[in-house]
Amino acid sequence: MTKRVVLIGHPVAHSLSGAMQQAAFDHLGIDATYELWDRAPIALAEAIAELRTDDFLGANVTIPHKERVVPQVDRQTEEAHATGAVNTLTKEGKKLVGHNTDVPGFKTALDQLVGRQKMPRHAVVLGAGGGARAVVYGLIREGFQRIIVFNRHLHRAESMVKHFGRSAAHMDLRAMPWHESIIEAELAKAKILVNATSIGLTADESPVPAEILTSDLMVLDLIYAQTRLLRDAASAGCATSDGETMLLHQGAAAFALWTGQAAPLEVMGEALAAARAEGIRSAEGEPAGDAGAPVPEAATPAG
Ligand code: NDP
Repeated sequence: MTKRVVLIGHPVAHSLSGAMQQAAFDHLGIDATYELWDRAPIALAEAIAELRTDDFLGANVTIPHKERVVPQVDRQTEEAHATGAVNTLTKEGKKLVGHNTDVPGFKTALDQLVGRQKMPRHAVVLGAGGGARAVVYGLIREGFQRIIVFNRHLHRAESMVKHFGRSAAHMDLRAMPWHESIIEAELAKAKILVNATSIGLTADESPVPAEILTSDLMVLDLIYAQTRLLRDAASAGCATSDGETMLLHQGAAAFALWTGQAAPLEVMGEALAAARAEGIRSAEGEPAGDAGAPVPEAATPAG
């Protein structure tokens, strides 16, 4: 019987995961299909209940459900529990286990960005959504000593910091108001800047002015494109990385959980590139209101 894996989100039409996961199933001869389920929040519980039937290997969960799905699983992994967000579901019989593979995906991206240099200890994170939770938890686990979170709505950053209270008790994790001068002052003390906002996803905009980027910063944008932030950072002499590595590796980790087999990374990477060439562009997390909006030339991923 063909097994099913689904991506549950709203919207999901522009998702890159379908191409990547289906290519991996096909390459390894696994009889499974990856389906996109567009489900509004009101229909989430019904969708989750359906997953408990025998047809399903598991699921991915994306915006806006990553936090909402937590109370609906029977067990959570440490990463899911710590972040309060689930992006992958697996089955144990009829029971559902919630995982957060954005955390290992981010770790791989961070390791690649830092390369052979010593892992820095101070970071600035822009954003306080589901992606930012995986980033902040990844940085805490990596041993960062100071992480400053800026978010348009400060209260959301504050509640994220509060959420991490216990796991961050040994270090300095703070939410600060989004003011250019404060961001500039914090960037002067940091080595890593992560953009976990969706600024730059659908318009050629940067969350910070180019002038405050200095060459000793390493800049990671979760968006799967050469965003204005990344282009400004490269011009300033910074090392940069877009969301491709994180997307690929969160998907690879999910694939391994569903199938028990190592993910064919090269095949998945090629499928991502092909889907992107066809104009599919979402790195899981496209804002619902902007679905289908044209991506500006300058924000189109390079290569
Ligand atoms: P959420 O909707 O949970 O969070 C969106 C974040 O962006 C919030 O911090 C929000 O601030 C901020 N934001 C949105 N619009 C604006 C704006 N106009 N001005 C200032 N801040 C803004 O989304 P996710 O955390 O899931 O995703 C965020 C980004 O990360 C997306 O671009 C997504 O594609 C990417 N992502 C990539 C992944 C990968 O594997 N590469 C994995 C996960 C995410 P506020 O709270 O104030 O509204």
